[in-house]
Amino acid sequence: MVLDDMSQKQTTPLILDGKWVRDQIFSELKPRVEKLARSHRPPGLAVILAGTDEGSEIYVRLKMKTTGELGIYSEKITRPDSVSTGELLGIIEGLNQRPEIDGILVQTPLPPQVDKNRVLRAIEPTKDVDGFHPLNVGALVENIPGPRACTPVGILDMLRRYDIPVAGRHAVVVGRSDIVGKPLALLLLHANATVTICHSKTVNLAEECRRADILVAAIGKAHLITREFIKPGAVIIDVGMNRKADGKLAGDINPDDAKALGSAYTPVPGGVGPLTIAMLMSNTVDLAEQHLCSG
Ligand code: NAP
Repeated sequence: MVLDDMSQKQTTPLILDGKWVRDQIFSELKPRVEKLARSHRPPGLAVILAGTDEGSEIYVRLKMKTTGELGIYSEKITRPDSVSTGELLGIIEGLNQRPEIDGILVQTPLPPQVDKNRVLRAIEPTKDVDGFHPLNVGALVENIPGPRACTPVGILDMLRRYDIPVAGRHAVVVGRSDIVGKPLALLLLHANATVTICHSKTVNLAEECRRADILVAAIGKAHLITREFIKPGAVIIDVGMNRKADGKLAGDINPDDAKALGSAYTPVPGGVGPLTIAMLMSNTVDLAEQHLCSG
């Protein structure tokens, strides 16, 4: 389906199904993984989990399970809450040297005594599966190849698979974090959108958002974005994952308002969430192909 006139409000908005996108990505990755395993070895991912954050433990479990389903070799390295920066640097140095490890992921948040920036920057850039290393951020800024942050690149992939045009559209990204807002704004810019980045100091946030053909919320505040922020016919991407008192997940955008006004929207859960893990797997396979097949 092509949404080429987003000013026209459709009666039934398109639900952008992250699980459908994830499954497509996985079915494309499987033959690539099999080919690598046949000709060389399976791709390898190492995940470092420091501390006992409940959410992190759930994410890491899912990542390990997914690698198994795809035939990717994976290894989990756990350390207690008391871990030091030096110990993590030592672990990363060891993983940097191991040829069968293509990607290294440090699950965040890290315990407060750990110097997160030093740890993330210690990862060899060619194994930086999350795309957080400054060299890879620089590659993103310059629009040259390199691993890209998983959630943002997953969103671009979803827009492409749903044939949602980006070039020439006005995209408004609310949130400027290093892991979502900033890299997403750059990817949208490289896809020729006109991009506005909003944050907590933005004046007249609703007015800025109402100019969006593509509105992305990556804020971390449940249902902050409501109908007065939404231009009728906008494509609405909700990155937010906010845990409510009843344990359920809420996005940053009021879902009833997204449904009522958007031409397309991502549900929470089931929209952006599945894209992140899909792109983590995709980045791991990309890195393995670069390590094994180039040159
Ligand atoms: P973050 O690092 O806390 O950044 C939040 C951003 O929102 C900041 O730039 C902040 O502005 C801005 N903000 C906060 N309050 C605001 C307000 N009232 N008005 C306008 N902007 C406001 O969060 P994050 O890591 O980017 O994550 C954002 C959300 O996405 C969270 O719910 C997170 O759980 C979710 N997430 C989901 C996935 C997924 O796979 N679906 C992946 C990553 C993150 P300042 O910069 O001015 O402080």
